[in-house]
Amino acid sequence: MNTSSLSPVAERAPGRSESALAERAMVAATTAAEHATNVDSAGRFPAEAFDAVRKQGLLGILVPRSMGGEDAGVGQVADVCFRLAQNCAATGMIYAMHQVKVACLVRHRHGSSVIESLLRRLCAEQLLLASSTTEGQAGGNVRSSEAAVSSVGDHIELERQATVISYGAHADGIVTTARRSADAEASDQVLIVFLKDDYTLSPIQSWQTMGMRGTCSEGYVLRARGVPEQIVPEPYASIHSHTMVPFAHLLWGSVWAGIAAGASMRAQAFVRTAARKADGALPPGGARLGEVLSSLKTLRGMLSDSIRRYESIMNDAQALNSVDFQSQITLTKVQASELAVSTVLKALRVCGLSGYRCDSPFSVERHLRDVLSSPLMINNDRILSNFTMTAMMTPISAVLSG
Ligand SMILES: Cc1cc2nc3c(=O)[nH]c(=O)nc-3n(C[C@H](O)[C@H](O)[C@H](O)COP(=O)(O)OP(=O)(O)OC[C@H]3O[C@@H](n4cnc5c(N)ncnc54)[C@H](O)[C@@H]3O)c2cc1C
Repeated sequence: MNTSSLSPVAERAPGRSESALAERAMVAATTAAEHATNVDSAGRFPAEAFDAVRKQGLLGILVPRSMGGEDAGVGQVADVCFRLAQNCAATGMIYAMHQVKVACLVRHRHGSSVIESLLRRLCAEQLLLASSTTEGQAGGNVRSSEAAVSSVGDHIELERQATVISYGAHADGIVTTARRSADAEASDQVLIVFLKDDYTLSPIQSWQTMGMRGTCSEGYVLRARGVPEQIVPEPYASIHSHTMVPFAHLLWGSVWAGIAAGASMRAQAFVRTAARKADGALPPGGARLGEVLSSLKTLRGMLSDSIRRYESIMNDAQALNSVDFQSQITLTKVQASELAVSTVLKALRVCGLSGYRCDSPFSVERHLRDVLSSPLMINNDRILSNFTMTAMMTPISAVLSG
């Protein structure tokens, strides 16, 4: 599949470093494409794609230059996610999840020498970070933790039932939420970064899923030990609303847009091929290609707007806390996931049986299985019902302004 035909998510005219970054992303995306089918069928980590991601130095781009990174913005990272996911959804999603964690460390480190030295290592050694928020049977309530950090002498310890940790077995470190202490409320959380030598993972849950099989999101008991300075020096509550949620929703959304773009390209190729064979006559579902592209354009436009808005206020705590921004960023996740699913479904209607088959060059079955994870990855119903609780008490003008 040709992936060079779509422009960056943020749709700005690329500067020199931006287009160089896009070229590096394309190199990794090309490797991801070569192995995507096998990654999916074997349900294995996309090792070749991540070798290429590391060779291109893409894991540390969000980190400031002073620590060996590239000072990339969220729009640039979103563009890398989009390009990777067009060819291999698992590669795009793993890259996105890593960058969400890096963003939390970079933006909330408050000069911590332990976290800064870890970020330097991350750039120099191209370390890959995984995320642990889901816990026990509580599912996707990220703002609630059961397991608490404990102090043992001058160390900290944590044991948590981490029911889903994507690529946990392949990561160089894990960034996890936890209850601040044994006597803290479930919502009084901290964020902690542990490197591989600090923890063990005992498997408790496999990852045999419909799609996103290459994320290898198995469940483990996570047992970790470190020093108190590995706790990010800001309450998780503000990390969550200022960085974790915006980065997650924008980068995950870019991955889902990438999957939708990959399916759209197959639909377009199908219509072109069929029309060529029939003296220019469209195949039965051909007229729907316009709907596919319109839906993709809406999705990307909506993401671009949210990225621009976030970039314009990302260092303004008051604006980040405002109801209108929190509404926008919340609804971005819901809308992006719903639009991505419907774009891929429309592409399937265009391709007909060729799209439904698993053995056709126009197959969109992997795209569909992968994208169906999007409304569930922090369930849209959970997000909408939380949003409704806030929106119910807020004047509509405050929800809409911004
Ligand atoms: C591809 C993929 C990768 C993932 N990787 C990771 C990872 O690396 N680390 C990690 O920690 N987690 C990861 N997760 C898990 C994810 O973060 C969520 O925990 C998970 O998707 C929530 O699944 P759930 O639907 O079972 O749980 P819940 O969100 O608890 O939902 C369960 C059910 O309850 C309903 N529900 C819940 N709350 C409400 C409410 N308030 N109102 C109405 N209905 C409600 C939902 O609609 C749903 O039907 C991953 C998930 C996916 C799909």
